[in-house]
Amino acid sequence: MTEMARGFSNVALAGRLGAGIEFGGRVYTGHAMSCIFCKIVAGEIPSTAVYQDELSYAFADISPKSPVHVLIVPREHIASLDEADKDKRALLGHLLWVAAEIARQKGLTKGYRVVVNTGEHGGQTVDHLHLHLLGGRAHTWPPG
Ligand code: 5GP
Ligand code: ZN
Repeated sequence: MTEMARGFSNVALAGRLGAGIEFGGRVYTGHAMSCIFCKIVAGEIPSTAVYQDELSYAFADISPKSPVHVLIVPREHIASLDEADKDKRALLGHLLWVAAEIARQKGLTKGYRVVVNTGEHGGQTVDHLHLHLLGGRAHTWPPG
């Protein structure tokens, strides 16, 4: 078993025991172990990968609103943009770069939209920070 696979199964085990677990320099506890996007990052819930690196994971939205609809998430659990502290500035910039890189890879030469729904009024439904990359059609403004 690879070190990564061992780590992921330890996360699952810790979830069953209700304990925290340290893996890859990060501590997985309570909310992070029950969050669906944390589980997608850990491979515990299947997803269609689009891009990944040491900081981020991008995958196809399960209910696409545009021909291209990709979600870009940090590997670490951050509940929302509002919860991203000052020390996350570089990570936030990286996530934006990932969105642009995926758009280039997918040939979205006519443009695209990047959305970060935040909190109740922002329409956020999953409490793990994510960027929506929407492309492949024209998008109207203002949004609903
Ligand atoms: P929000 O409404 O929080 O801005 O966006 C959450 C997005 O996550 C929605 O577009 C929804 O379709 C997507 N989503 C929710 N659950 C899953 C899942 O289990 N897998 C994938 N791939 N997308 C999901
Ligand atoms: Zn999470």
